Amino acid sequence: MSRVFSVHVAMLYLCCIGAVHADSSTHAFVLGSIEAEAGTTASGYLEVPRGVDQATRIPVSVIHGARPGPTLALVAGTHGYEYPPITALQRLRGSLDPARLSGTILMVHVANPPSFLGRTIYTSPVDGKNLNRVYPGKPDGTISERIAHTITTQVIERADYLVDMHGGDGNEILRPYIYMPVTGNGELDAKVRGMALAFGLDHIVIDPAQLADPAASVFTDQTGLSRGIPAITTETGQMGSNDDYWVDLARDGVMNLIRHLKMIDEKEIPNQGVVWLKDYEVIRAQATGVFQASVRDGYAVAEGTLLGELLDLFGEPIMDIRAPFAGVVNYVVGTPPVSEGEPLAMISKIAE
Ligand SMILES: [Zn+2]
Repeated sequence: MSRVFSVHVAMLYLCCIGAVHADSSTHAFVLGSIEAEAGTTASGYLEVPRGVDQATRIPVSVIHGARPGPTLALVAGTHGYEYPPITALQRLRGSLDPARLSGTILMVHVANPPSFLGRTIYTSPVDGKNLNRVYPGKPDGTISERIAHTITTQVIERADYLVDMHGGDGNEILRPYIYMPVTGNGELDAKVRGMALAFGLDHIVIDPAQLADPAASVFTDQTGLSRGIPAITTETGQMGSNDDYWVDLARDGVMNLIRHLKMIDEKEIPNQGVVWLKDYEVIRAQATGVFQASVRDGYAVAEGTLLGELLDLFGEPIMDIRAPFAGVVNYVVGTPPVSEGEPLAMISKIAE
């Protein structure tokens, strides 16, 4: 089985390598079995063949502009319960006119189909792994690792810019924000900052992100950054909602990013009034039980403010959860169940 599988992977590699230099506007852009001529949009699947566990297929679109320009990769559905970015990309696929586009947009509509179709938060129902912790993946690993490997080699490594689009997971009440990695590489960081501002959300979390070993990048955005590709992670949505309010935040963010990258002939809308955040901390459950939040997303809290109470499964109090420092609540868990080690809330300090 593994030998057959690696032959498939080798063929995918060859296919991919053959297409790498074909992305100027006069040539078709080939992604897996999809071929988009200049000035057209094409959609299809990236096949992830069966390996140690089941196969899956990742729905993708290529919007290949009529004119040359950068390649922008947009990845939605890394966590399958985070719907607004998925819906935003579906709508953008229909509304973006490739005849007016300079460059190419690669859309990963649902990066993690097992999680999406299985309605799981955080992890895959097949292998129990978090797709955003297994990059750059492995061609012979479990399904999440094979998905990561496919996205790394076929999408991320062919991009000039990368956005990993998330939201609050199915249990998270979240104030929309962007993680803006700061790597220490000035040229890369300047591009990342431009992307973060262009996406238009008014909370930006400064994320100290030393460049990872490309072979052990762990996160989607680090997979780009460690390969010299500017990348941000966006958070729009919460609690499994697919309301237009959240979808529009994601869609409008992509549209303004496209303006910023000069991929369409429209003026970038300047982002005014950003709240810059730093030193974020994820507060984790020290015991399994029930969480009752006493704050909401976006609350400003003083050090020691009660964030919520952890109860046991009989409803008896285990401990109070308090803010470790003064800051802003980026998200807080909004449904009862928590297992030891899982996030309860994320808080950031306001940067000077
Ligand atoms: Zn997520």
